[in-house]
Amino acid sequence: MTDLKSLTLKELEQETAAMGEKPFRARQLYGWMHGKLAAGYGEMTNLPKSFRQKCQERYGYTVLRAVRVQESRIDGTRKYLFELEDGDTVESVLMRYKHGLCVCISSQVGCRMGCRFCASTLDGLERNLRPSEMLEQVYAIIRHTGERVSNVVVMGSGEPLDNYDNLLRFIELLTDENGLHISQRNVTVSTCGLVPRIRQLADRKLQITLALSLHAATDEKRRSLMPIAERYSLGELTEVCAYYFGQTGRRITFEYSLMRGVNDSAADADLLAALVGRLNCHVNLIPVNPIRERDYVQSERKAVDAFGGRLRSRGITVTVRREMGRDIDGACGQLRRRYRDGEA
Ligand code: SAH
Repeated sequence: MTDLKSLTLKELEQETAAMGEKPFRARQLYGWMHGKLAAGYGEMTNLPKSFRQKCQERYGYTVLRAVRVQESRIDGTRKYLFELEDGDTVESVLMRYKHGLCVCISSQVGCRMGCRFCASTLDGLERNLRPSEMLEQVYAIIRHTGERVSNVVVMGSGEPLDNYDNLLRFIELLTDENGLHISQRNVTVSTCGLVPRIRQLADRKLQITLALSLHAATDEKRRSLMPIAERYSLGELTEVCAYYFGQTGRRITFEYSLMRGVNDSAADADLLAALVGRLNCHVNLIPVNPIRERDYVQSERKAVDAFGGRLRSRGITVTVRREMGRDIDGACGQLRRRYRDGEA
């Protein structure tokens, strides 16, 4: 079945033309879906009832319902668990920063990448999310808060580049001037490093930020944490990152989750500096968010500071991710699992 909310305005015009409607109807419908963020056809009062009914019968309407909303008492971060039409659930997070609201969305239900420290991947991949289901995570949060969202990061559950076509369509719709019109520069896509896809994305020359989950500075250590490292070496990764910068002019963000005794030593920092030092990049250090199924432990504050300091002394820009929502299952995939297991 065609999903109207995943169509571009042009495609929607074709679809409604096939229904015998004038092009301006498509524009109105698109405006209701992506501009006014209507939760259903019932709200679209300037469209004829018969047209709305036909749409409902032929296409249905993609909308997400929040089944859990948890708010952090520490920093106001909100975690949403949304139910999809097929009854499965996805997690999204709303974070408040000085420069505005940021929504973190999921790109798949589950994940097949198998990173050792991540809760989203424990049961493998359930399915890809459609563009409309990615958009709806943002839309439903805006409807719930009534506030503007300035940034969107695709850093929730799933590997966005493993759902490549839907991801690109999602970005197109999210940044479209007839929709929310979020600037490409305010969109970040995080990947575990699917090299051919990164190359393809680079050639699109979008102005989004690419975040690359590195977590280790040698192939051997990375392989012990991330199965994807069996497929692509760090050499290939850094090469494609340089290519991405060349094509887009956008500085890469390397994400590095610090795990005590695993990847947080001075030697690890030196290897990391040597690996990325020559790239136009920025390193984001993340204290690992321990999940109950694995025994990774957060690096001590001192170790995080020392690690960052060592990188900085080699001229690398470093930020330490502020931990947000620690009290509300902040790490990807945790809330969905607890809900499914009847614990949340
Ligand atoms: N699949 C994508 C995006 C989802 S995860 C990717 O791999 O980048 C977003 C980020 O959170 C990634 O850097 C991921 O490695 C990291 N991450 C996952 N589980 C984590 C945990 N328990 N603690 C800290 N970071 C984690």
